[in-house]
Amino acid sequence: MIKRILTGDRPTGPLHLGHYVGSLQNRVRLQNEYDTYILIADVQALTDNFEHPEKLHDNVLAVAQDYLAVGLDPNRCKFVIQSMVPELTELTTYFMNLVTVATLERNPTVKEEIKQRNFTRGVPVGFWSYPISQAADITIFKADLVPVGEDQLPMIEQSREIVRRFNSLYAKVLIEPKAMVGQIARLPGTDGGAKMSKSLDNCIYLSDTSEALRKRVMSMFTDPTRIHPTDPGHVEGNPVFTYHDAFNPDKAEVDELKERYRLGKVGDVEVKQKLFVALDRFLEPMRERRAEYQAHPERVREILMDGTRKGRALAQATMDDVRRAMKIAYDFAQ
Ligand code: ATP
Ligand code: MG
Repeated sequence: MIKRILTGDRPTGPLHLGHYVGSLQNRVRLQNEYDTYILIADVQALTDNFEHPEKLHDNVLAVAQDYLAVGLDPNRCKFVIQSMVPELTELTTYFMNLVTVATLERNPTVKEEIKQRNFTRGVPVGFWSYPISQAADITIFKADLVPVGEDQLPMIEQSREIVRRFNSLYAKVLIEPKAMVGQIARLPGTDGGAKMSKSLDNCIYLSDTSEALRKRVMSMFTDPTRIHPTDPGHVEGNPVFTYHDAFNPDKAEVDELKERYRLGKVGDVEVKQKLFVALDRFLEPMRERRAEYQAHPERVREILMDGTRKGRALAQATMDDVRRAMKIAYDFAQ
């Protein structure tokens, strides 16, 4: 049987370079080999944006356009809107019995995200327990493979544990998913922060214009120990070079820049200008595909509805098996 991919993104903003190297690149590469479902996780995004639902609403279409712009083929991939598959909420409820409070409290990604988010009224239960609903997202589609960034590994591990517990308690209905981390497990932000992240405003977006891109690149964080262009600089841990490595196909140019940087023979401005050129070339084909779809928003809406319909049908079939396995499938008509 053909293997299946499930992965997704929160519609908290348009997609950025971190999404590309962390996950989108693998999705595009594998879309012909795997039956691919991609979830636009608006329900999960509500867990830390419930006071601003309008923000998510507007970004569902933006994220779908990003998918199409990077080259995900709507004839192969199903784009599914999470809130339109209510079976996910049901499965989440059942999974809650299979996870302990202590396990949730240990999740390192959630811990880190709670610190960043500064919840003023305490941590909402919905946010704290989102690894459980994410396990439902992955398993309801019976995914074999989940292409994700490194921050998501604890969620996949949590999903695997739930599947093992479910299958041993009830019946072998669910599939234990495997994570696949991208070419760069965690792309740093333009501010030098550990992760480029929509919520941290340190992003280069796939939809950035040349002008916006130039501004972001020229104001990037580099090597804080280097004051003058003649000072020897550090390449390791310098996000400008991390981006060169990831996005500049001219390896000879990158090696030469690194060497001169280490020797104090090149200024930040030249390194950034070359990065700008490389990134602008990288984004150009996406801009063309995006323009086509922007001219036909009704096509994007159709693609979303079609993918969501197929996703929901699959989710309903899984839930029939889940309910039977859990002895909560009643048929009093017979
Ligand atoms: P938010 O700040 O709202 O959580 P985000 O930028 O973290 O947004 P998500 O929608 O949470 O984006 O993540 C979608 C996918 O992209 C996940 O698989 C995640 O691991 C991956 N990803 C996000 N940011 C990066 C990054 N900087 N490097 C590598 N992968 C990333
Ligand atoms: Mg995130």
